[in-house]
Formats: sequence, C-alpha cells, structure tokens
Amino acid sequence: MTNTDFVLAIEDLTVSFDGFKAVDGLNLYVDKNELQVVIGPNGAGKTTVLDLICGKTKAASGSIKFKGLELTNMVEHQIVRAGVGRKFQTPSIYENLSVFDNLEISYPKGRTVFGALMFKRTPEVKSRIHEIADMVYLADLLTTEAGLLSHGQKQWLEIGMLLIQDPELLMLDEPVAGMSVREREQTAELLNRICKDRSVIVIEHDMEFVKRIAHKVTVLHQGKIVSQGTMDHVQSDARVIEVYLGH
Ligand code: ADP
Ligand code: MG
Repeated sequence: MTNTDFVLAIEDLTVSFDGFKAVDGLNLYVDKNELQVVIGPNGAGKTTVLDLICGKTKAASGSIKFKGLELTNMVEHQIVRAGVGRKFQTPSIYENLSVFDNLEISYPKGRTVFGALMFKRTPEVKSRIHEIADMVYLADLLTTEAGLLSHGQKQWLEIGMLLIQDPELLMLDEPVAGMSVREREQTAELLNRICKDRSVIVIEHDMEFVKRIAHKVTVLHQGKIVSQGTMDHVQSDARVIEVYLGH
C-alpha cells in the first residue's frame, strides 16, 4: 500500500505539556472523501490532535503531511490557505451581523490586502452564499441576526462559514453537543453530503450520531490509538469497552 492517496498523513506525532504526553507517537491517515470520527475519553488528546493539524499547537516531533505539504513547518493562516478548515467547540460567529453577512465575511477574498479591498458583492459571491445557506439549513434566515439563531443553527452557520472557503479537509470538534435530536439528524445528513467533496475529521461522543456518519472510527486513549476500523469493529473491541464505552 502506498500513502500517496492520503489527504492527511500523520506520522509519529508527539506533543508534551509539562512532561505529560498528550499525543504520543500517533500515526493517523485520512483518505480523500473519507469521514473519519475520533472518539475516546475526556483528556485522550482528541482536541490536541486538531490543534496540531491546524498549527495552533506545535508538535515536539513527528510529521503531519497534507497533500504532501509538511504542516508542522507552517503557521495557522498558511494552513488555512492550504485548505484546512477547523471548527472549534464553541461557535465563533459575529452575533450582531446577519447570517448573510457572516457568510460573506468568510468568503475567500484573495491573498493580498489589495484583493480584500477590491472585494465586491458580485452575483457569483451572492449565489455562493445562497448555495451554502441552503446546504446548512439557513436559506430562510439570511437576514436574521446571527445572535438570534438557536444553538444548533449557530453551529450550522459556522460550518457554512468554513464551507464557503471550500476546504479540502474540514475538522469539527464535537459539532452536535447541545443540539436537539432533530438537529443532530440534520447535521448527520449535512456531513454525509459535504464529505462527497472533501475529507472530514469529526470528534464526537454521541455514538448514535457517530454511527450515522463514520466511514472509519479511531479510538484515542492517552494520546495513542487503541482501536481503529468500522463502528461495529470498535464497538465490540474489548479494549474500547474498557477505556471508553464501558463508562
Ligand atoms: P480531549 O479533547 O480528548 O478531551 P485534549 O486534547 O483537550 O483531550 O487534552 C489532552 C490532555 O492534554 C489533557 O490532559 C489536557 O489537560 C492537556 N492539554 C491540552 N491542551 C493543553 C495545553 N495547551 N496546555 C497544557 N495542557 C494541555
Ligand atoms: Mg476535546
């Protein structure tokens, strides 16, 4: 097997906080159009892995290759430009702006200050905003102030703000926490659609939700992989039941 088809290839990745290895010699691969879910107990290192990929945390050692680019040598905005989008646990939207304006602000404006100054609300930009709003169930709420949206709708808006940048790798940290059952179902449908055009990494605790979306599940414990495979495989793995599902 070659690893040239992997969008993301993490090898021997390690980071320590005060001598404690939060991520410990991790090897993790994500294919094109794969939706991989990372589960594991609190403190397993799940969020830290995303922090390392997006450049928020610097690795002590190891490699993170995205389409052949070594991300450990790059800073956050370069990693975003390379095509990695990351959603944090709490939505970072502009509460006092409309849904439309939030999406417009996130539209890629080119690489230079000049590009940003020249930015115009062209028909192309508008149609892209409508397309994304439709995808994230907010088409009827474009003029609504973002602060008035439900918690779930705010999460969808932030996903939309990432999608409008068309990342090749999208990473979501506990996207359905605090969502209603119906919103969870809609989010699962949304993720099943968006992974047709990109790779997705999701961290999640809700096993019903994981079952609906995961192509592959990776179980992390103390910064290491304890099990990996299909949902059925990891759910029946004695090690996983011991460290995570049994609790
Ligand atoms: P998870 O997302 O799986 O719950 P985290 O990745 O948030 O776990 O945390 C893994 C461990 O690393 C925890 O013990 C946490 O306290 C520690 N940790 C995470 N980020 C930092 C940081 N920036 N500084 C110090 N310790 C951290
Ligand atoms: Mg976390």
